[in-house]
Amino acid sequence: MNARPHLHDILKSRFGYDRFLPMQEEVISSVLEGRDSLVLMPTGGGKSLCYQLPALIMDGVTLVVSPLIALMKDQVDALSANGIPAAFINSMISNREVDRVQLEAVRGRVKLLYVAPERLAVPRFREFLRVFRPSLIAVDEAHCISEWGHDFRPDYRNMRGLRHDLPGVPVIALTATATEQVRADIVEHLGFSNAGNFVASFNRPNLKYTVRHKRQAFDGLVELLRERPGESAIVYCFSRQDTEDVARDLSRVGIPALPYHAGLDPELRHTNQDRFIGGEAPMVVATIAFGMGIDKPDVRLIVHYDMPKTLEGYYQETGRAGRDGLPSDCVLFYSYGDKIKQDYFVDRIVNPDERRRAEAKLATMVEFSELRTCRRRYLLNYFGEQWGGDSCGACDVCLAVSEEFDATEISQKVLSAVIRTGERFGAGHVVQVLRGSRAAKVLEFGHDELSVYGIAADQSAEDIRELFSLLLDAGMLVKLPGGYPIYEVTDHGRDFLERRDSLTLQRPVRPDAPARDRSGRGRTSTRGMQAALEYDQDLYERLRTLRRRLADKSGVPAFVVFGDTSLQHMAYAMPQSVESFAAIPGVGQAKLSKYGEVFLEVIQAYASENGLAERSSIAAKTPTRSPRMGPSATHNETKRLLESGLNVGEIAGDRGLTQQTVLNHFERLVAEGENLHLAPLMPPSERVQRISEAFNTVGSEMLTPVLEALGTEYTYEELRLVRLWMTQSSGLKGG
Ligand code: ADP
Ligand code: ZN
Repeated sequence: MNARPHLHDILKSRFGYDRFLPMQEEVISSVLEGRDSLVLMPTGGGKSLCYQLPALIMDGVTLVVSPLIALMKDQVDALSANGIPAAFINSMISNREVDRVQLEAVRGRVKLLYVAPERLAVPRFREFLRVFRPSLIAVDEAHCISEWGHDFRPDYRNMRGLRHDLPGVPVIALTATATEQVRADIVEHLGFSNAGNFVASFNRPNLKYTVRHKRQAFDGLVELLRERPGESAIVYCFSRQDTEDVARDLSRVGIPALPYHAGLDPELRHTNQDRFIGGEAPMVVATIAFGMGIDKPDVRLIVHYDMPKTLEGYYQETGRAGRDGLPSDCVLFYSYGDKIKQDYFVDRIVNPDERRRAEAKLATMVEFSELRTCRRRYLLNYFGEQWGGDSCGACDVCLAVSEEFDATEISQKVLSAVIRTGERFGAGHVVQVLRGSRAAKVLEFGHDELSVYGIAADQSAEDIRELFSLLLDAGMLVKLPGGYPIYEVTDHGRDFLERRDSLTLQRPVRPDAPARDRSGRGRTSTRGMQAALEYDQDLYERLRTLRRRLADKSGVPAFVVFGDTSLQHMAYAMPQSVESFAAIPGVGQAKLSKYGEVFLEVIQAYASENGLAERSSIAAKTPTRSPRMGPSATHNETKRLLESGLNVGEIAGDRGLTQQTVLNHFERLVAEGENLHLAPLMPPSERVQRISEAFNTVGSEMLTPVLEALGTEYTYEELRLVRLWMTQSSGLKGG
C-alpha cells in the first residue's frame, strides 16, 4: 500500500500554506472517506480548498458546479499558477473548445473541471459525464439550489438528475448562507442521507466594524480612501444615480473611482468589473448589484455610504472585505434619514406579511447602526451564534474611549415611556413620544395625552435612542422575541423606577466631527483582530510593482501571482535564499520555480541597498489568519487519553468530541510521526487481516471502495483504525 499522502505536505507544496484554516482538515478527511459533505463557512473561510485538495489526491476528475461564470477563468488561472491542471466549460467558450476540454479530461490532463449549472441540462454533456464518471462533485454556492436563498438558480435543480446518473459519486456542497431552510433544501435536493455536516463560525476576526454619523459623509469617505492609496475598496450606495454622482465627485478630488450598477451599458459594466478585479482600478462605487461575482481576495475597505435594508445584506456586503485574512475595514455612514428613505419603499410593499418582514428587518438594521454595545456580538447573535465575552476589540464601540455619565433621569424617562406606551412599540416610537412629536402614529394612539409625552423634548433623538441599547445591556430592558425590536421593562428595571435609585452608565465618547481615530485604521492587536505584520512598506511597494508587471505579462489578475499576504510576509522576512523564500505563506512548489528567482532578486537587492538582513520564523510569530485551535494541544490531549487506556468511544465521551474527530486526531498524530499505542483498539486479528488484505487488493486508501469490497459487516471506524495501524507500521519499517 502506498504511504498515505500527508495532507500537510500537499497543503504546503501545492498551495503554499502552512496550516489549515478552521474546519478545512475535518472536511477534507470526510471527503476523502467518500462521504457526502455539507460545508457552511463564511466568505473567506477557505471553502475552495475543501474540494481542491481532495481533487488532487483522488484519482480522476473533480467536477465543480459553480454559478459564477465570470470567476471561472480566474479560478482556473489561480490553480494553474499552483501547477494544478484545471479547466472550465461555460457559455463563454465555443463548442470546439468544449470538445477540446472534454478530450483533455478524458486523457487525464485535468484534475478539476468547472462547469456552470446550465451545462448539466445539455444531453451531450450528461452523456459525457455518465461515461466518464467524475470521482467527486463539488457544488459551490450551494444555496442557489434553494428558493429560500437570495440567489435561486433553477438550473441547480439539474443536480438531482446528475446524482441519479452518477450513483456513488460523493458530493460536497459549499455555501456561506446558513439559514435552516436553505440548509434543509440543499440536503433534500442533493439527496444527502448520511452526509457530514460542517458549520464553521461566521465570525470574521480580521474585519473591523465601524458606524459613523452621516454628517459630512463625503469628507469622511475621501479621508478613508486617501488613507489607503492603491488599495481595493468598494463603496456601496443606495441608487444607481448615487453611484455615478459619488464616483464623479471622488474623481474630481483626485481619487479615481469607477461606478458600477445594473443599469450601466453591459460592456462598460464588464470593463469596470474586470479593471477592478485585475487590480487596475482599485475603487468602485456600486449598488448592491455588484458583488455576487466578486471574489477579489484583497479588498481592504467596504463603505456603506447609505444604510442597507437588512443586516443580512450588510453582513454579506461587508463580507467581501479581507477574504485573504488580512485586517480590513467596514465603515457604515448612518443617519436616521436613511431609515426614512427606506420606509418609503417598505410602505409600498403590497403583501402585508412581506411588508411586516421588511419593516422588522429594517428596524434591526437601525438598531445595529445605533448600537452602543459591541457590534460584532450583535451581528453574530443575530445569526444565531453565541459570541463569548463583552468586547471584541475590533468594532468602533469596543475601541472607543468610554465615559461614565449620570443616567438616572433619562433612564427613568425612557423606562416610564416604554411602560406607558404599553410595551409594544419599537424605540423609534417611544423616542417620538418622549420628544413630543406630532407624528401621525403618536396622535393616532393618543400618546400625546400620556404624562410622559414631551418630557425629554430637550434631548436629541440620538441621545435618547442610545439609552435603549445601554439599558438593554444593563438588564433593565429586554427585547421581545420576534422580528421587530419591541421592548419590555424587566423586574430589575421596575425596581430601579420604584426605588428611585440613581444610575451611572458607561457610553462610548461620541465625537462631534468625524474623527480620524475612531474609524481610521486603529490596527491594534486585540482579541478580535490580529496584529498586522510590521513589514517594510517600501519593499512591499516594490514587490507589488513586480507582481503587477508579471500579472500583466501573463494576462492574469495580480492575486493569481501572489496574494497581499504573501508579499507582506516577504517584505517582513526578507528571505535571502530559496529555502527561506519557500517558507513564505502562499509559496508552493509551482510558484517557487516560476517566480522564486525574480522575487528573490528584488528582495536581495533591496536588503543590500539598505543594509538589512533576513528575519526568521515569521509564520510562527505572527499568524495572519486565525490560528488553528491550539494546533497540537488538542491532539496531544487525545493522545494522553489513549495512553491512559481509554478506547475511541471513551475518549470521545471524555472530550465531548465525535468518534470521527478522535480518529482524525489519531491520523494527524500519526502523520506527524507520533507512534500511537493502537493495539488495544484493534478489532480481532482475523478481521484486521481481512481488512488489510482488502486495502492491498483494492489498492486504494479510500474507505468506501474498500468497504464495498469487504461487505457490510465491516465499519468505517474499523477500517480507519486498520489503515492507521498499517500507515504507522510501514512508516516504522521504512525508518
Ligand atoms: P471562500 O470561498 O470560503 O470565500 P476561498 O476558498 O476563496 O474562501 O479562500 C479565501 C482565502 O483564503 C483565499 O485567498 C485562499 O487562498 C486563502 N486560504 C485558503 N486556505 C488557506 C489556508 N489553509 N491558509 C492560508 N490561506 C488560505
Ligand atoms: Zn466589538
